[in-house]
Amino acid sequence: MNSCSAITRRALGLGLLALTPFPALAQNRTQPRALSTVAMVGDLVRDIGGDRIRPETLIGEGVDPHLFRPTRADTARLLAADIIFANGHRLEGRMGDVLARAAANGKPVVMVAETLPRAKLRANPEYPDAADPHVWMDPVLWAEAAGSIAAGIARLIPDQTSVFEANLAALRARLAALHDYGARVMGSIPPRQRLLVTAHDAFGYFSARYGLEVDSIQGLSTESEANLARIEAIVRGLVDRRIPAVFAETSVPDRAVRALIEGAGARGQRVALGGTLFSDSLGKPGTYEGTYHGMMDHNFTTIARALGGEAPARGMLGRLAAA
Ligand code: ZN
Repeated sequence: MNSCSAITRRALGLGLLALTPFPALAQNRTQPRALSTVAMVGDLVRDIGGDRIRPETLIGEGVDPHLFRPTRADTARLLAADIIFANGHRLEGRMGDVLARAAANGKPVVMVAETLPRAKLRANPEYPDAADPHVWMDPVLWAEAAGSIAAGIARLIPDQTSVFEANLAALRARLAALHDYGARVMGSIPPRQRLLVTAHDAFGYFSARYGLEVDSIQGLSTESEANLARIEAIVRGLVDRRIPAVFAETSVPDRAVRALIEGAGARGQRVALGGTLFSDSLGKPGTYEGTYHGMMDHNFTTIARALGGEAPARGMLGRLAAA
């Protein structure tokens, strides 16, 4: 540990915030403001907190959290919340200072993905002090991480703990059914076509859980530029293996993905745009795709169908928007 850089120490410190005790709200305060950085976290906070809290999400639909820089107004919202839920592991890479400042001021800050045992997480070659942040892509791990949300809300409103525990149990049952659907439709993709190619490396946990290989133009963060050698290597893989489709992401420009399609076309291999996946952002608030369940249903269904597997066009519950 002696050789830790200042950045490493800071990141470790953030991870420990989840374990720091914080005071319960006074009994007469109802509906504390629970502010989440990203909607993948915020949707679970809403499910678990129910009408006992006022949930808010900072980073909007289609916005890339890796690049999100809080404005002065965003910082004011963070500091005004009663509790903050973030993903952590540097997903909110440009918010580290403001989250640390909030925690230093005594604000409860729960770094949801950082509460999972490190042994269950994927390494992050770009930032050795952090894990791959895209934990929500695995509903099994995300259901486990949701325990930290229930615990965080319960510490704020301890007399309602049994409500949050019941909401957590119901959420976990829904996520178990979601995982079963995912395993079934992903399992229907023919072995030779089990390669998921996306704009950035957000699908590592997803691919590990559902037995796919994964390749992406950009790494775990979207901060680096796509490079031509990388695109060329992916095109070779697509052509050699006759992969039928590649995927765009709602929070990342699709220019480089289109370059893959053109590159494969120039070599005589027709590769389709298989659809646009929700990687680091949910869909529009108020829609099914604007929930975590809908996001994952959309991804499972879109990927399975485009890679030659079988899934109902409108997804697990018949609720997906028509393609
Ligand atoms: Zn990402």
